[in-house]
Amino acid sequence: METINEKCPFCNMSNENIIIQNKHCYAIFDKYPVNKGHMLIIPFRHFDNYFDATKEEKVSILDLIDEAKEFLDKKFKPDGYNIGVNIGKYAGQTIFHVHIHLIPRYKGDMENPKGGVRGVIPGKMAY
Ligand SMILES: [Zn+2]
Ligand SMILES: [Zn+2]
Repeated sequence: METINEKCPFCNMSNENIIIQNKHCYAIFDKYPVNKGHMLIIPFRHFDNYFDATKEEKVSILDLIDEAKEFLDKKFKPDGYNIGVNIGKYAGQTIFHVHIHLIPRYKGDMENPKGGVRGVIPGKMAY
């Protein structure tokens, strides 16, 4: 089981970028935010597939999503959230170290938000 990959940006995160952390993961602001406050929840261990996370890692991930949400609620007062994980190249994953996107949403940030994460296949978002 690989733990650290020298070329992986998430294995080599500098401490000043880490907003919060717990036993198995940390949270940062996304470098290319799709919305104000877009955060990533990232396990310390290097592995690519969310489904390969241990039970303990999954608990840490879920706890940190909650903590990040509290943090964002206070800081930006968003009106909603999307949570998303890309698993595999064909699902759009580009960095092959697990990361969960926590994306704050604001009233009016797009014309018709109906469908939310269904929008990953744009033609199928509205229903
Ligand atoms: Zn990594
Ligand atoms: Zn990503």
